Amino acid sequence: MSGTFRKQFFPQATARDWQDWQWQLSHAFRTRAQLERVFTLTEDERAAFAQTAKPFPLSITPYYASLMNPADPHDPLRLTMVPRGQEHRLGTGEFWDPLGEDAHTPARGIVHTYPDKVLFFATDFCATYCRYCTRARVVGSGKLTAPNATWEEGLRYIAEHPAIRDVLVTGGDPLTLADARLDWLLTRLRAIPHVQILRIGTKLPAVLPQRLTPALVRMLRRHAPLWLSLHVTHPNELAPAMQRACNRAADAGLPMVSQTVLLKGVNDDTATLKRLFEGLVALRVMPYYLHQCDPIVGSAHFRTPVATGQQIIRELHGRTTGFAIPTLMLDAPGGGGKVPIGPSFIEGRDGAELLLRNYEGRIYRYHDPA
Ligand SMILES: *Cc1c(COP(=O)(O)O)cnc(C)c1O
Repeated sequence: MSGTFRKQFFPQATARDWQDWQWQLSHAFRTRAQLERVFTLTEDERAAFAQTAKPFPLSITPYYASLMNPADPHDPLRLTMVPRGQEHRLGTGEFWDPLGEDAHTPARGIVHTYPDKVLFFATDFCATYCRYCTRARVVGSGKLTAPNATWEEGLRYIAEHPAIRDVLVTGGDPLTLADARLDWLLTRLRAIPHVQILRIGTKLPAVLPQRLTPALVRMLRRHAPLWLSLHVTHPNELAPAMQRACNRAADAGLPMVSQTVLLKGVNDDTATLKRLFEGLVALRVMPYYLHQCDPIVGSAHFRTPVATGQQIIRELHGRTTGFAIPTLMLDAPGGGGKVPIGPSFIEGRDGAELLLRNYEGRIYRYHDPA
């Protein structure tokens, strides 16, 4: 499929160019005119470009675009990437910084909300910009990090706080950094004695799987225990190139988990998410979190009621591999942190007995010791 796409829209490019992640980045769709070479934009999509209030960048790698049906304005991946008019609307309960991260930033490029783990923003650059991004206020802006000095400040903060045992390197997408720079950063983090585990948050296995070269995977492996946390959205992402990338990482011994944002019209039904989560398990990626979409400004058209996610998890329970079911999470506005929001299978209590609802909806009683 991507071969046909390449020949149609990038006739000068060789198969080798297509496999080159730098080529993919330098040919990403970043303007309306570039998008229109492939997609017939709807009126609403065209209108979104006329608005300038939201300086949130656009970028779609040719590879990721090749996974979308250009004739279908409701293509699930397209809905997450191509701007729509609604993203310029401020909805009820929406914020520029929904997680209150700026208030938990004790050093530049660090978010320290929980006692023993921090976020480390390695870059503000992404290969593709998700329209519902919780860091839309900073990604692609140059505001998140100006490397070197900023990195040193973050490294010093972590070194001076022995309670920090878990560093989640994120951004932006850290795997967009060159091997040598990322290796340098991970080496410095590893040299801090109290840092036990490293994690990297990335969407590249889905949008730019060419980035997971043998050399990158070997380098990451040297910094074990290092976990990859993959941002995935829809089973259409689980294409052969992503399968090869995940196999390479798993064969190298890199443990992988996934995070998915629940998005209206994109993945908010049980059948779609079941295919996604089962597909991930087959790629040796454990579904970790299903996130209620954060109330970032201009994201109301993506947000489902909390009950939707609860119903999906309820329907998956008992009907697939237990570890194919992620935890449903809501990040409390104002810096409250992540809260698991169910669903609960405890129906209530009858005296000393708990009333439990099983996967078939039947009620069972359990004597709960005092
Ligand atoms: C999500 C998050 C983490 C990591 O949380 P886990 O539940 O351990 O995956 C750490 N810090 C911040 C600020 C976060 O938002």
